Amino acid sequence: MLDLIVRRVRLPGSECLTDIGIADGIIVKTGEISDSARRELDGCGDLALPPFVESHIHLDTVLTAGVPRWNESGTLLEGVRIWSEYQSGLTRKDVLDRAQKVIEWQMVQGILHVRTHVDISDPNLTALYTLLELRETVSPYMNLQIVAFPQEGLLACPGNQERLEEAARSGVDALGAIPHYEHTREMGVESLRTCFGLAEKYGLMVNVFCDEMDDDQSRFLEVTAALALSSGLKAKVTASHAVALSLYPDAYAVKLFHLLQRAEINVVACPLVNSVMQGRFDRFPKSRGITRLKELWEAGVNVSLGHDDILTPFYPLGTGNMLHAAYMAVHLAHMTGYAEIEETVNMVTTRGAKTLQIEEKYGIEPGKPANLITLPVTSKFDAVRLQPKCRYVISNGRLVARTWPETSELCLHESPSLVEFHR
Ligand SMILES: [Zn+2]
Repeated sequence: MLDLIVRRVRLPGSECLTDIGIADGIIVKTGEISDSARRELDGCGDLALPPFVESHIHLDTVLTAGVPRWNESGTLLEGVRIWSEYQSGLTRKDVLDRAQKVIEWQMVQGILHVRTHVDISDPNLTALYTLLELRETVSPYMNLQIVAFPQEGLLACPGNQERLEEAARSGVDALGAIPHYEHTREMGVESLRTCFGLAEKYGLMVNVFCDEMDDDQSRFLEVTAALALSSGLKAKVTASHAVALSLYPDAYAVKLFHLLQRAEINVVACPLVNSVMQGRFDRFPKSRGITRLKELWEAGVNVSLGHDDILTPFYPLGTGNMLHAAYMAVHLAHMTGYAEIEETVNMVTTRGAKTLQIEEKYGIEPGKPANLITLPVTSKFDAVRLQPKCRYVISNGRLVARTWPETSELCLHESPSLVEFHR
């Protein structure tokens, strides 16, 4: 007997409905299933997807917006200053309460794989040790990856090199750097060498904050890619943001694309945050803020999306919904073709799984862990257009969250009529 059967769901691109049979936390069969199970769920013809992947968020900073004050200029620099003030009074309980609440929001919204950055500029490393603890607590139902991130610079901030190594020893999943934030170009390059050296020493992945500024001279993506290639870490390396790429001359960008392809690194864009953080120094015309997302994808570079911030000094809005990030990507990257819109869903599912290096265990196929979500739409296109919440979220074979789809009625006549946003 199976543990769970999710009946009548639609896999992407399929005309017909299928059942998904689960036993011992593993998908054991798909198709029409005649077996019985301890529990059955009616999939209602919904679209079934593997869970959303959050490729880039900061669980240590979430839900702090407005404390000690709001970021009135909206700039990254003011955001860093406000966060630094908040960080000086950080406690374990505070980090835990905020991060746990956002993890609940994420689960309800179908996110079961999360890569979070944690700032190690705090001499006490309070957030780091709290999130490492939380990673274990949530591991039965949520896969949390932790990146040690030196927000104030690896070399520019005294003690951060030592703390990066301490984080590596403490069991983080990846190491970070922020080369464009160092005092000089040379220090930026050296910070990347340090980061890659430690990643090799401890067998970890690398996730660099790369060229997150409106400066066409910020050229650390090439250094990151070159080190990914020479170290052999390749697909274990991710560059987040890379917004300066949108400002480079085309001749240089084309050369860089070849290097990115050879290096096989991943690029993560954060369209919500990039759209408000970048272009702050522009008068008119104002830049769109996002990296060359569509062009990277067309060139065969793995690109995925992050929500990045939720109610922080860097971004005042957000619920964590990955479809919001996809929706914004469609707009900022001019990805309005039908296939392009559907592709943005891949950027928050399968492509995110590639960034996190979890592809082997990811996907709705027999033999893989039973992690899946169902959305009350019939296509990825409508998932982006309507951004519905998940009807069911299943983690390791267990129903962990559900949302009743909302219904709207028109009340012009005696008996109200149901209005659906489908063609
Ligand atoms: Zn970020």
